[in-house]
Amino acid sequence: MSYTQTTRSIYGNQLEDLRKQGIFKEERSIYSRQNSDIEVAFPIGAEHKHVINMCANNYLGLSSHPDVIKAAHEGLDSRGYGMSSVRFICGTQDIHKELEKKLTEFLGTEDTILFPSCMDANAGVFEAVLTDEDVMIADRLVHASIVDGMRLCKAQQDTYKHSDMAHLEEKLQLHQNKRIRLIITDGSFSMDGDLAKLDKIVELAEKYNAMVFLDDSHATGFIGKTGRGTHEHCGVLGKIDIITTTLGKALGGASGGCVSGRKEIVEMCRQKARPYLFSNTVAPVVVSGALEVIDLISKTTERRDKLERNTAFWRKGLTEGGLIIKEGETPIVPVMHFNAKLSQDFAKTLYDDGIYAVGFFFPVVPKGQARIRTQLSAAHEMHHLEKALDAFLKAGKRFDILHKTKQEVIAMYGQ
Ligand SMILES: *Cc1c(COP(=O)(O)O)cnc(C)c1O
Repeated sequence: MSYTQTTRSIYGNQLEDLRKQGIFKEERSIYSRQNSDIEVAFPIGAEHKHVINMCANNYLGLSSHPDVIKAAHEGLDSRGYGMSSVRFICGTQDIHKELEKKLTEFLGTEDTILFPSCMDANAGVFEAVLTDEDVMIADRLVHASIVDGMRLCKAQQDTYKHSDMAHLEEKLQLHQNKRIRLIITDGSFSMDGDLAKLDKIVELAEKYNAMVFLDDSHATGFIGKTGRGTHEHCGVLGKIDIITTTLGKALGGASGGCVSGRKEIVEMCRQKARPYLFSNTVAPVVVSGALEVIDLISKTTERRDKLERNTAFWRKGLTEGGLIIKEGETPIVPVMHFNAKLSQDFAKTLYDDGIYAVGFFFPVVPKGQARIRTQLSAAHEMHHLEKALDAFLKAGKRFDILHKTKQEVIAMYGQ
């Protein structure tokens, strides 16, 4: 079929619909390194503006850390730019193996396999280890990449209500006749910033002979006393059968992901996971940077401790100032507006005031749950946070939502 005017209008109309519904995603261009202070233009071509970044996954502030950049340069010089091959043909270097070993030690597992991204890790792992004799039982709020990975796998799919352990137990009882039961959860849920009840999940897994899968992308490097993740925080280090995580967030933020866990499972992925077999893995320059990242965060907990202090300051400041946040302990702090337009107008006001934060609404979050998701970083200094807090409270005052209840805000703006 040629690309006719009719075909063009099929897509044109759909895109126009997205704009009309106000859910067309516009991108802002950043002209600086990823950091707490960034230079942004929106729309492209507009005047550049220096703003404080409150919405990156740069939790440990390592995206532009001088030691990481230096290590990446050295890797580029010694191991070259690209592999031009998948791992099993001629795309494995010594440093890929070294990074897998370091991730294994850091995560407290038996073995690790790198993937081009965590999205790819999630796309490959279920199909590689489960068959139609098995069942996957997932929390209803797991990340989109897990949903996709489950779709690619022939095992039966089931879900349990978000963090509802009684419901999970029911499902485990229901599926006792299956060969393998795999419980699937995120560690830190990215939209609400709450943590999985991993200790309870492991308890249920032991009681009903199930395996546990944890995607710890929003936790690896900073959740838990030494930053190993949600399993450390919940006291179940060594008890998670499959962990997937990303190098694209706290761990330097470039790209790459992994499956880490029981050694037979990792080996099954090496033999069978399609994104591993048919796509290039992480480039040498990124591997070298990631090796330095793991060294930095294994040596000292300074950065995760600073992140914890920043988070406490931010949560306390917003709450005492009278804004409504989702309670929790992670550096993901959603400021609730409930109304989609209010979240957009609020973000615009912040931007005019030099603060970069993005409003989320349906379908990214449930209807009536619009919010600005703020994320803290160890790269934030007190002066960043004080300025950002001022701007949030000023905007709160302008829209008259300070010290109001949820019902009062909804009464004013609708849901
Ligand atoms: C970000 C994220 C991913 C995707 O990670 P990439 O490495 O960027 O593909 C997967 N799972 C969760 C829970 C995430 O938050």
